[in-house]
Amino acid sequence: MKRALATVSISGTLQEKFRAVARAGFDGVEIFENDLTQFDGTPSDVRKMAEDLGLEIIALQPFRDFEAMPEPWRKQNFYRAQRKFELMHELGTRRMLICSNVSPHVIDDRDRAAADLNELAELARQEGFTLGYEALAWGRYVADYDVAWDIVKRADHPNLGIILDSFHMFARGCTLDCLRDEIPVDKIALVQVADAPRLQMEVLHYSRHFRCFPGQGDLPVAEFVQCLRDKGFDDYLSHEIFNDEFRASSPLEKAVDGMRSLIWLEEQTSAQQQAEPEITDVEFIEFAVEGESGEELIGLLQRLGFRETHRHRSKNVSLMRQGDINLVLNREPQSQAHEHYQAHGVSVCALALATTDLAQTLARADRYRCNRFANQAGPGELNIPAIRGIGDSLVYFVERRGKFRFFDIDFVPVEPDASPDAGLQRIDHVGQTVSNTDFLSAAFFYKSLFDFEIEASTDLPDIYGLVVSRVASSRNGRVRIPINMTAAREASAQRFISKSKGSGVQQIAFSCEDIFAAAETVGADNLLPVPQNYYRDLDARFALEPELLERLQSMNLLYDRNDDGEFFHFYTREVHGVFFEVVQRVGGYNRYGEANAHIRLAAQAREYCREGDL
Ligand code: MG
Repeated sequence: MKRALATVSISGTLQEKFRAVARAGFDGVEIFENDLTQFDGTPSDVRKMAEDLGLEIIALQPFRDFEAMPEPWRKQNFYRAQRKFELMHELGTRRMLICSNVSPHVIDDRDRAAADLNELAELARQEGFTLGYEALAWGRYVADYDVAWDIVKRADHPNLGIILDSFHMFARGCTLDCLRDEIPVDKIALVQVADAPRLQMEVLHYSRHFRCFPGQGDLPVAEFVQCLRDKGFDDYLSHEIFNDEFRASSPLEKAVDGMRSLIWLEEQTSAQQQAEPEITDVEFIEFAVEGESGEELIGLLQRLGFRETHRHRSKNVSLMRQGDINLVLNREPQSQAHEHYQAHGVSVCALALATTDLAQTLARADRYRCNRFANQAGPGELNIPAIRGIGDSLVYFVERRGKFRFFDIDFVPVEPDASPDAGLQRIDHVGQTVSNTDFLSAAFFYKSLFDFEIEASTDLPDIYGLVVSRVASSRNGRVRIPINMTAAREASAQRFISKSKGSGVQQIAFSCEDIFAAAETVGADNLLPVPQNYYRDLDARFALEPELLERLQSMNLLYDRNDDGEFFHFYTREVHGVFFEVVQRVGGYNRYGEANAHIRLAAQAREYCREGDL
């Protein structure tokens, strides 16, 4: 199928939008008329701009409040339509979108609506144009697509078809029955795809602010496209997204997201489902560390029981290990890490993911329009392939073969000092914090590329505002990435964004089997203090043994329990925006201690105030 995007979906001038749409690889563009009226060139300039970029202008939209109007509006509407036809000739487009009437003057008469549409379709035929009729979910008498279809049928003109917009259909709770059973493919004038989270609100407000790309929300858009494909539909799928964050984002980034969404939709509905590679583990986390601030971070890692075990053969890069956790510390000048350090300070500059098939994972990343990153490997060294991930960070891919690990070739073992470790075993989860405009993109990055499952959002109350979190996790449950954002100026997520100058990894959680021993090794001074009131509440909620409660309290440990098991955890103080967590899961507990998040957020805010930043 061909791919298009309506200009209303992204930000910028018409020129910026066209460039972004073309660079993202779309075939066509729908012109939302406001974009044209705001443009300071002629319609012919717009046509030339599209031609130069290889884009087809697939439609001019929307033509509003046309059908079933009494005089004098009826006559005015035909005049208005003629003027738009002139515009369409200049733009070089042949399709016009008519959306169902919302005027208070419209007459409730399907035959009248059909007669008007037939008359206009005949005028369109003489110009070589096609008209599409779309039910707006808040249309006065035509709000459902089966009603719009009834009118198109009554109008019975070869130059008039129906426009199917998944948002309008599903926001009203329509089923696909009418499409499946009644609408022939040649009467579909255009298909617009839009998704949205499931929300209970007035439908116009819902439509204008909360739409998102298919795959980013909860509506059954893939089922809709499957139904179209089953019928043999093979024309444009076009995004028509009204979303506050999209309008405040980079047009290119959102256009690329839109392209990923259509590729994902096509994959979901393809007859040939191919076996896809699986992401199975976090292989390593790489930090950009330089100067004194870098040493502070390394100091905290040492207190968490990490020891330098390897050094890179040719670069100023070392490896700290503990259990199955690999932390790469990069101090190399003229490297991506150095650039990351210059832009963001001490920070996580890359995540490396283990995949079951490296070549397929890279092919998939290319298909999804990811930017590859070329590494600078020395002679005889591994060139670990990478793509640009969240923010300015990289995602490396490593394929594990037998006992061979990525550090066996490029790194030389060093004798670690003999101090005890903290019993940390593996990376439990990696929390990324993003700006609110990147929240949907970040989750969809993991979902579309790696088939990660995305949980519903949870609200975490910070004392300075709400932090919203949703977890992306690999199919085997071993890679878990909570993604956080906030709209509050002083909340934790925004403090991180300000301090680190952009999206990135804010939190790393390690698992262990003895939380008390781990806390002992790390040392009370390094832990985030927990208020006494928390333990009284814990006692009230769980009626813990007094000894256990006392032990938790004396060590600043947090606790949670559900039907599946128990969860013990503690947090370190922040170092340059990043903090660590140590967790012990008991039984089948599979959550993240969300019930304690507000305690952690308040404690972090207190530390922040104490530092005198606020
Ligand atoms: Mg629409």
